[in-house]
Amino acid sequence: MTADGADTPLAVVLFSGGLDSTVLAAHYRRTHRLLLLSFDYGQRHGPRELAAGREVAAHLAAEHHTVTVSGLGPLLTGCSLTDRSQTVPSLVPSEEALRSITIPNRNAFITDMAVAIAMARHAEVVALGVHHTREGYPMPDGRPDFFAAYQEMVRLASRGFHTPRVEVPFVGMQKEEIVAYGVRLDAPMDRSWTCYLDGPVHCGTCLACLTRRSAFALGAAPDPTVYDSEAIDDPSDPRPA
Ligand SMILES: [Zn+2]
Repeated sequence: MTADGADTPLAVVLFSGGLDSTVLAAHYRRTHRLLLLSFDYGQRHGPRELAAGREVAAHLAAEHHTVTVSGLGPLLTGCSLTDRSQTVPSLVPSEEALRSITIPNRNAFITDMAVAIAMARHAEVVALGVHHTREGYPMPDGRPDFFAAYQEMVRLASRGFHTPRVEVPFVGMQKEEIVAYGVRLDAPMDRSWTCYLDGPVHCGTCLACLTRRSAFALGAAPDPTVYDSEAIDDPSDPRPA
């Protein structure tokens, strides 16, 4: 089911082309016209991720834009996603590994740009696909309290202008619940890209691939992804033996 009438409200969906944002786009497509917004901030896996985003957007027949701030990447040192002197961690989802793939304040700065666009386009909603994990919320700006405070900031920043709502409908969900929901929505998860590397197929062993594999296994959903490495005995348990 899609909503695309002229009176249908607009949702600006922060859209990486990954699993969560693909399901998020399918979620809002039922009730809103979509404006999918991708960001090139110089991330290592950017070309592959952004290409997947274009594919998913085309499949959903959605308006899609990529905002390029790639000059930011080299300045975000210390994070393996943007700092090429760092190695992308694999197989060991330790606290140190999680820190190395976290870009502090990323949700904040991409949401800021999305809100400005939503104000210009009179969008009803700005939506992000942040979610819960067994370890809690890995990013400080992915937590419910952050978004509650952020909505108040939007209210203050938009005085006299259109005020969009900032929504995070998956914030209480685990990734496998998002996958199971994506199956029900028939979201094109097979076209999404999760891997932190930029290979021809998903590497299968980086932290992002491990969580993707685990989510399909725990969500009891067939995993349509082609992985370079099948070297995980039990994909529902990403921890090393
Ligand atoms: Zn990978």
